[in-house]
This record gives sequence, structure tokens and C-alpha cells, in this order.
Amino acid sequence: MLTAQEALERLKAGNARFVKGEAVQQKLLSHQERAEMASEQNPFAIVLGCSDSRVPAEMVFDQGLGDLFVIRVAGNIVAPSQVGSVEFAAERYDCAVVVVLGHSHCGAIQATIDTLMNPQQPPSSNLMSIVNRVRPSVEILMQTDLKNDLKKLSAHAVRSNVFASVNQLRHGSAVLESLIEKGKMIVVGAEYSLETGEVSFFDF
Ligand SMILES: [Zn+2]
Repeated sequence: MLTAQEALERLKAGNARFVKGEAVQQKLLSHQERAEMASEQNPFAIVLGCSDSRVPAEMVFDQGLGDLFVIRVAGNIVAPSQVGSVEFAAERYDCAVVVVLGHSHCGAIQATIDTLMNPQQPPSSNLMSIVNRVRPSVEILMQTDLKNDLKKLSAHAVRSNVFASVNQLRHGSAVLESLIEKGKMIVVGAEYSLETGEVSFFDF
């Protein structure tokens, strides 16, 4: 099992390869490896990321089959089924790190901004369940001057939404809280840049 620090270093090194166009994973995939993994998995990190087609965790971190336990949902929100997925992987596979991965130009963030600006045209109730999870992070920013600069508002909202998800994972589950208190797991936030391919890890 990797320590949290080792796991983070491995993710950062993988992203550096991806950014430079030197990803190695493609070459390492083989029929034999796939078959060897059929009976068990041993992922070294958990990633909660957005469903956006441009942000596949395995590719941006240049990791292969069996390396990452990935939960993807629009807006990288935390609802009970996401918490349950993280609990499952954290306990079963001893993953020492959980990364909440937001990204620039997130459609779920934009949908939330649009809904708050045009409340008379709400999305479907299903989409609203995602918007409602993102909403607190955006609402607080809309009370500042950022409301006059939609680009900046969206960029800030991505970060505060990542922070909100990190916070919910750290404090919204007795199982995870206990693993964190025992020093067995950390939850970190990060943002992927669609423009550069770089993942920046946050210090909160
Ligand atoms: Zn997104």
C-alpha cells in the first residue's frame, strides 16, 4: 500500500507525463495484464471527478487498468452514493488518498450559475438535484463583485465547489472521518485545466 504522499507523487508524475505528451500507459496495456487483474484489484488512489468527456482521470494522471478507483458525476458533487463509493474503496483497498478533481469551464457549474440567474427557467428535477449540491458554492460568490464578471465567477465557483466536496467527504461520513483521524487517509482538492492539461493541487 502506498502512503498518501507516495500516491500523490505518483499522480503528479503521471500528470506531468500527460502534459508533456509522454504518457506511458497505452504501451503497458496487454491481454495478459487484463486477465491477471480479473480476480482482484488494488487501486492506489480514489478520484472523485466530473463526468466531462475531456477529464478522464486515468488519462490525465497517466494511470492504467486497476490503478485508480474513479467516481465520476457531473460537477464532482458529493451525494450519499458518492460518499458510499469512497467509503467502500477506502476501507476495502486501503487507499490513502482521495482526490476531488474539478476542472475549468465546468458545465455543471455553468448550469448552476444559469439557474441562479434565470430562476424562472429551472432545469429538470434530476438536473436540479446536481445544481442544488453546487448552489451554495456559487450563491455566496454571487453576493460579491464577481457577479459582474461571469468568467471569473465561474473560475472561482469551480474552486469553491471542489472545496465544498472535499469538506463533505472529510466531515460527512463517520467512516471517512475516523480513517482521517487515524492518519490512514487524506482528502485533497485539485483542478484540471482544459487549456494546459495540468492538474493543480489545492492546499486546503
Ligand atoms: Zn464538469
